[in-house]
Amino acid sequence: MQQIDQFRDLLLQPKRIIITTHIKPDADALGSSLGLANYLLAKGHHVDVITPTDYPEFLAWMKGNDAVINFEDGNEALSAKLIDAADIIFCLDFSTLSRIEKVGELVAASNAVKVLIDHHLNPGDFADYSLWTIEAAATAELVFQLIEQLGDKSLIDNDIAECLYAGIMTDTGSFRHPSTSSRVHRIVADLIDSGADVTKVSKLIYDNNSIDRLKFLGFAFSQRLQVLPEFGVAYFVISKEDLKKFNSKNGDTEGLVNYALSIKGVVMAATIIERDGKVKMSFRSMGDFSVNQFARDHFDGGGHKNAAGGASTDSLEATVEKFKNLLPLYKEDLNKNISFLHV
Ligand code: 5GP
Ligand code: MN
Repeated sequence: MQQIDQFRDLLLQPKRIIITTHIKPDADALGSSLGLANYLLAKGHHVDVITPTDYPEFLAWMKGNDAVINFEDGNEALSAKLIDAADIIFCLDFSTLSRIEKVGELVAASNAVKVLIDHHLNPGDFADYSLWTIEAAATAELVFQLIEQLGDKSLIDNDIAECLYAGIMTDTGSFRHPSTSSRVHRIVADLIDSGADVTKVSKLIYDNNSIDRLKFLGFAFSQRLQVLPEFGVAYFVISKEDLKKFNSKNGDTEGLVNYALSIKGVVMAATIIERDGKVKMSFRSMGDFSVNQFARDHFDGGGHKNAAGGASTDSLEATVEKFKNLLPLYKEDLNKNISFLHV
């Protein structure tokens, strides 16, 4: 962060701090938020974490989870009051206020000092202080670096370390994505030295399946997976009835898109899921094919080059048709990256 000395001075006296993150927080969104919250609490600040929506149960082990305010769970008035009264608002793991909808409007209207910590493409310019780079594998990595820059690495205890480790582990796809730099491994080594139990964290996040979820995955693999080898594309289409049939809970479809990407010869994978009155899409890609651009151009979305999301208010069928009809336009680009896979 530039102006780090000025920022350090800002934190010298106890402040009323809000930390918020993106809709449907994942392990990086929540882990970076609670990691930062626990650090700021240790520094003597008053801290509230506000999420725009709920998040999966497999993240509830993080320290501070019990105090998280879920905006849409009857906490609209409370959140508005806290955001209005805040001295500092941290925005973590999203790049534009529109990504957090109504909470974003409250943040925009607040006089608080705004701090952006993020690694998504196309950042907005609403922040007074910004720690932003797409070079970071995870927002949790940036939170670690901020604590380090503030000279407080010794304050990272096992709880903070585990929150941050969870974000880095998941956003790197368990240290497999190209974002897995030597710096990531050095930070993780520090987090382990600070007490992060890596087996515990990966068990809590990845080995936490319900039988319903496994049955849902089996159903999705056998009935809902489409592979189009001529394009190097594979995708799942999941209706709201499918979700209901398998008693699907928040988080049960997380990671599904990666199975489509794991198919040999596939360079772009998608999930197209009907939920909460709209169609939500996740995209993943290999090589140079930018799903960020694809999601921005066609599905009101965005994210990273190789991992992005979007949404549509069309019907599930119409969204799938739109997606399929776009593929011929991208055939050349997709095919270039299929050859990349075979290099
Ligand atoms: P996921 O597919 O795991 O939900 O999201 C992949 C990446 O894209 C994440 O970094 C997430 O923040 C981002 N993303 C997901 N949905 C949207 C969206 O609707 N708009 C934008 N701008 N980014 C999204
Ligand atoms: Mn992230």
